[in-house]
Amino acid sequence: MTLRKKGKQWYGDDHADLRQELVRYSQCGEYSIDNLIDVKCRCGHQQFKLRTDETEGVAIRECVECKTERFMGDSAEFAEDAEVQLHECMCRKRIFELSVGVHRYRDVDDSISDDVRWIYIGCRCVSCGLVGCYADWKNEFQGYRKLLRKM
Ligand SMILES: [Zn+2]
Ligand SMILES: [Zn+2]
Repeated sequence: MTLRKKGKQWYGDDHADLRQELVRYSQCGEYSIDNLIDVKCRCGHQQFKLRTDETEGVAIRECVECKTERFMGDSAEFAEDAEVQLHECMCRKRIFELSVGVHRYRDVDDSISDDVRWIYIGCRCVSCGLVGCYADWKNEFQGYRKLLRKM
């Protein structure tokens, strides 16, 4: 695993590289990532098409192997008004590996709450290796473990 920079973009080989880039991205803002998960379909496959609407907080992934579509996290609750758009890599391919990160609330004594404050969806293009954060939004789900299990 090695991240490589070409121009302004980073390229990686696997989920570990994608996680690294996602954490770096989150640390440029206020809500650094506390926990991460790699997304896997029930069929065992790990390559997806991704549709999101950041404004509504909705993400839908479609497994390229078994074609199962699934709302990620608590997306289904917000789907009604969403206008999701299919993501495409700069190389024009549309198949990605996905990792999801969350930032959790800080309590008054600065300890980390179990509750989520912000969510990040990262993609690695399986054709050219480009890694990046493709969507992030405020998500106030109670219990980060449960939310990550629903990805
Ligand atoms: Zn599948
Ligand atoms: Zn690509």
